Amino acid sequence: MPVYLVGGPVRDVLLGAPTTDLDFVLEGDAPQLASELARELGWHLVVHDRFGTATVSHEDCHIDLVTARQEVYSAPGALPEVSPGTIHDDLARRDFSINTLALPLFQSVPQPIDEHHGIDELGKGLIRTLHPLSFADDPTRMLRAVRYEQRFGFALEIESKAHLRHALASGYMDAVSGDRLRHELERILAEQHPGPALARAIDLGVLKAIHPALIDQTPILSLDSRSSGDNHSSSMLYLAALAYPLSSQDAEGVIQRFNLPGHWAKVVQDTGELRQLVPQFSSATLPNSEICQLLEGRSEEAIAAVSQIGRPGVVSQRLDLYLTELCQVNPILDGDSMLAMGVTEGPLVGRILGKLRTAKLDRLVESEEDERQLVRRILAGREDV
Ligand code: ATP
Repeated sequence: MPVYLVGGPVRDVLLGAPTTDLDFVLEGDAPQLASELARELGWHLVVHDRFGTATVSHEDCHIDLVTARQEVYSAPGALPEVSPGTIHDDLARRDFSINTLALPLFQSVPQPIDEHHGIDELGKGLIRTLHPLSFADDPTRMLRAVRYEQRFGFALEIESKAHLRHALASGYMDAVSGDRLRHELERILAEQHPGPALARAIDLGVLKAIHPALIDQTPILSLDSRSSGDNHSSSMLYLAALAYPLSSQDAEGVIQRFNLPGHWAKVVQDTGELRQLVPQFSSATLPNSEICQLLEGRSEEAIAAVSQIGRPGVVSQRLDLYLTELCQVNPILDGDSMLAMGVTEGPLVGRILGKLRTAKLDRLVESEEDERQLVRRILAGREDV
């Protein structure tokens, strides 16, 4: 069968970089081959008949099989018209030369197909588009370009960079759907080190073209300078760093533009709001119960990000104290103990429990007996609730 190993895995093998996913192109019916493969391996199969693609997967390993196709773009940023094609068409529709390599597996000694100088540019460390209108056809490639550039320590080739700038100046990004942009943002955030690609996307004005308020690299650089070496960075921390400088209105605009799902949207909103609370967290005295009041219900990723983005000091100490200790503090007594002590069933139980928690946070009570005494004082009218 005319099956080719293509793109990422061929590139990664040549670079000596790790690869987990395998991409195959077939000049023929890829979904049918995929279903036979899935049956033989006993793996999970997902077929997208409309696109002639299929994925066979098991745990973290994914095998993508694609029917060779050609693509024609009718307008900048629009989805392409797709029709079956040869391996040559399929390679010519790709984003960058380093992703156009193919290995014909049906040959007894497969020789790489390299019609777009991919091997040469892998050696030179260049990210080059295949034609001048590549970024206009699909502006999401600008996000892909910075991701590959920073992952491999490559450089955007000079003419490609000029084409990118032209596509930006022409406003082509406006035509791209939020879902497609979010997908590529997600790919950047999933990189081992998302910071450099995000900073570069800001530097080139790519993120500004998506939303005009995405222009400040400082929080990202500050997070990078405090992140620990080889560990895989948390995607949400970097999303929060992007959101850190935003006003509430801009945060809402960014959420809409990327069509962010609920959890992401909360990180974005909470980060901006927490930044505005920094002066309160800096005050000379701040009881633990007030720290909790300011932070309760907020996204933990947003709290962690604000702690790491600011300068080390009292603000980050208080935010970290909340995450590591205060958020888990609860009174020993519970609702049943209240009732057993004679508290009338109803909202008063919750109010007393809240009071006990506040007292415990501020270290006014410690033992179970301390808590009982406080409840008794409340019941005797000697303490407000
Ligand atoms: P990675 O590059 O992140 O290690 P990958 O190479 O498998 O993984 P994918 O995003 O899964 O990258 O895309 C698979 C291949 O499809 C790429 O190598 C690229 O050639 C092509 N491709 C993906 N997105 C685009 C696009 N927007 N425009 C053109 N080609 C694309």
